[in-house]
Amino acid sequence: MQAYIVHFGELGLKGRNRIFFVRQLVKNIRAALHDAEGAEGPPVEVAPFHSHILVKVSGGLPAEVIEARLGKVFGIAYFAPTVVIPADFETISQTALQLAEGVVTSETTFKVDTTRGDKQFPIYSQEVNREIGARIVARTGAPVKLKNPDVTVSIQIYEDAAYCFVRRLPGAGGLPVGVSGRVLALFSGGIDSPVAAHMMLKRGCTLDLLHFHLLPGSELARASKIVDMARAVLAPHRLAAVLYLVSAAPFETAMAEVRTRTATVVFRRFIMRAAEQLALRRKALALVTGESVGQVASQTLPNINLISQATTLPILRPLIGYDKAEIVTAAQGIGTYELSIQPYKDPCSVHARNPATWANLDEVRRVEAEIDVTTLLETTVRDYVDEVWIEF
Ligand code: ATP
Ligand code: MG
Repeated sequence: MQAYIVHFGELGLKGRNRIFFVRQLVKNIRAALHDAEGAEGPPVEVAPFHSHILVKVSGGLPAEVIEARLGKVFGIAYFAPTVVIPADFETISQTALQLAEGVVTSETTFKVDTTRGDKQFPIYSQEVNREIGARIVARTGAPVKLKNPDVTVSIQIYEDAAYCFVRRLPGAGGLPVGVSGRVLALFSGGIDSPVAAHMMLKRGCTLDLLHFHLLPGSELARASKIVDMARAVLAPHRLAAVLYLVSAAPFETAMAEVRTRTATVVFRRFIMRAAEQLALRRKALALVTGESVGQVASQTLPNINLISQATTLPILRPLIGYDKAEIVTAAQGIGTYELSIQPYKDPCSVHARNPATWANLDEVRRVEAEIDVTTLLETTVRDYVDEVWIEF
């Protein structure tokens, strides 16, 4: 059996919010480990435990796999592989000594940090620290350092068991997916939107994705890199989502004869309207884009303003204040960058010739009337949406 003590961050969480958060996190951890196969008893036990969550996995999954998966569950600040032992002093002491011997040497500093959750336990925490600390010094020759030691030997003592650990692994941070409501992320083939989608997952949002393509037929769209990119955003976290693949063909056909420098803004407004309708199908509460102020012509503040006016849903733009270089670094970090730079013909690229950086609302409305945007939208949402379920 492998056991982990999981700590969640977000210090501000209080009261009912906290209960809701913990419940969702327990559920998400269970889902991330659900394929563990135990020989006897439940293979995975996940339960709130004092101020943290206790995870027990019996058999099936190797420790590296469990740790890799826990490391990607949003809402975990850090987690520690722990030994679970009877709560008596001698057992605790021997276990602590054994664990310390693996990582503490005369070259490293350490401290013992005991929490006595069971106030009936006959020895005070400080005394446990001192006594076990002395034994570790005697065995390893390592000096004690109370402030910022290299190794902390943690001991938590409760009525029914004690927990001892020396390793803490970083979690993904953020909030558990599912606590913040559903969003629909506008997903292009580029660098930015996968990062934006990732950031909303990290804030606890349930995610669906929407991509407008210029490919002849949904078979080709399903075989495109967009599907791989969606999986690259979701699979590390063992999450699934709906990906809407929508053809931009009717729109492009309607625009073919129209001469205007506002085409990009008109298209972006069209995307927002379609997104709003699809968002309502899944009760999503907001749209998400990878826009950042001033990055390209369509992302000047005046144009962002016109784009926002196309929908009443809030448009979340988590990258709004980021430099391109920062977004690239983030994309490399989450593993989407390589797919993003693979060649792909994005609908936006076709009307990007000399676009207006300050599109005029009257001109935009004139173009929208000329192409009969309402009918176009109806046709697109009715006949040109392919719904793909993305899972790992
Ligand atoms: P990205 O790297 O995300 O493509 P970008 O720098 O290329 O961004 P734009 O092309 O102006 O910027 O796109 C801005 C945002 O609009 C994108 O981040 C995405 O959210 C949305 N978007 C753009 N093109 C599409 C598309 N074909 N389908 C769905 N959403 C799109
Ligand atoms: Mg783009």
